[in-house]
Formats: sequence, C-alpha cells, structure tokens
Amino acid sequence: MRKLGLIGGMSWVSTAMYYEQINKGIARRKGGLASAPVLLESLDFAPIAALQAEGAWDRLAILMAETAKRLEGAGAEGLLLCSNTMHKPYDEIAAAVSIPILHIGDVTADKLVADGVKRAGLIGTRFTMNEAFYRDRLEARGVAVATPDPATAQEIDRIIYEELTRGQVSRQSERRLKTCLTEMGKARQQAVILGCTELVLLVDPVANVLPVYDTTALHAKAAVDWILADEAQAAV
Ligand code: GLU
Repeated sequence: MRKLGLIGGMSWVSTAMYYEQINKGIARRKGGLASAPVLLESLDFAPIAALQAEGAWDRLAILMAETAKRLEGAGAEGLLLCSNTMHKPYDEIAAAVSIPILHIGDVTADKLVADGVKRAGLIGTRFTMNEAFYRDRLEARGVAVATPDPATAQEIDRIIYEELTRGQVSRQSERRLKTCLTEMGKARQQAVILGCTELVLLVDPVANVLPVYDTTALHAKAAVDWILADEAQAAV
C-alpha cells in the first residue's frame, strides 16, 4: 500500500472522520486486519482560523507548505489536506513538494460529472463560498455553482467556526441548513455540495430534499483508492 500524509486539525472534528473513513475503507477493500498506512500532522486550528480571519493567506501558505514538506520528508508518498478552505493556497503547497496532493475540489468534480450534475449549490466557509479558488475548479469541469444569499452564507460560516469546528451540533443549526437546502432545491439546483468537511454533522446525505455531495466522504474514498492504486494495478 502507498503511504498517505494527512494535514489535519482543520478541524480535528473532521480529521477524526477522515481517519475513521480511510481506515474503514481499507479494511473493507482488503479484509482481515488491514488498516491504512498514514502519517498525520494535526495542526492547532486556533492560529489558522485567526490568520484566515486576518486574510494572512501568505503566512498560511507557508505554514501549509512547511507541514507538507515535513510529511514528505517523513516518507509520505502523497498528501491530502483535510479541509476545503485550506485548498485556497493549494498551488503554493503543491509547489513545495514533489509528491501528489489529492485536491478535494477535483475529487468532488469527478463525482458530480460522473453523475451528470450540471447545476449545484455550494455551502462552506465564507472563503469557499465567496472566492474563486474552489468554485473555479468545479466550473472548469462544467458544473455551474450557486451559493446561498449573503445572510444565509454568513450564518453558515458562523455555524462552521462557532459550532461545528468545536464539535458542537445543535438542532437549530440543523434546521437552518435544512431551510437552506430546501431553498436550493426551489432554485432548481440538482444537488448540494457540502463544501466544508464538518457540514455532514448537520446534513444527512442520504435523507434529503436534494442529492448531497459530502466532500469528506468523497475525499476519504479517493484516499483509499490512491493508497490501494499500486495493488489494484498489480492485480490486473
Ligand atoms: N473544515 C473546513 C473546510 O472544509 C473549515 C475549517 C477550515 O477553515 O479549514 O473548509
């Protein structure tokens, strides 16, 4: 199996989901006692969120690039950033290492395209919803992306930073998300992208008004495929 480096802690709540889903995926595919060979560097999210709020993306890019280099130096053969938002400095991080980084936007776009989705709602942090770095990646693949109205977007961003990334799940926020998804359905979106790795805590991907694309699950599945890619090839 290939060894995968995870940059986590953004937040630890979703990193725990990644760790569990990747291991479960390997166990399912290989059977027996098999588990995933991973290296995890779990960062302190407090200074990261503070730098995001300040708009200090140059410093965040350096921080991420240094972490990526440490994981490469420790033997990782590929990398995964356990966050949608932190893909904003993806190019800088990718330039710092010579191993591949599995982009969460590409993995999501692959699935949307395979399912024939051409119009999708996107929810996530204010950075993911409002800026081009994520949306462009999807639109380049022919998926038109729509985001909620500004007040709803602001509320979702608040829920992410004040509740979900602290491990808090409330009925009120669950209802707020449900209303948002209903609105997206009325606006004739074919699907909704949970473009934040903690949002699945509030939105049930299987029982909903619209097909829901959970980026954490899609990214973790791509990680499993990548870890097993050499074995899959050898078996052909
Ligand atoms: N995990 C989140 C995401 O997928 C938000 C936390 C962060 O800012 O990295 O975007």
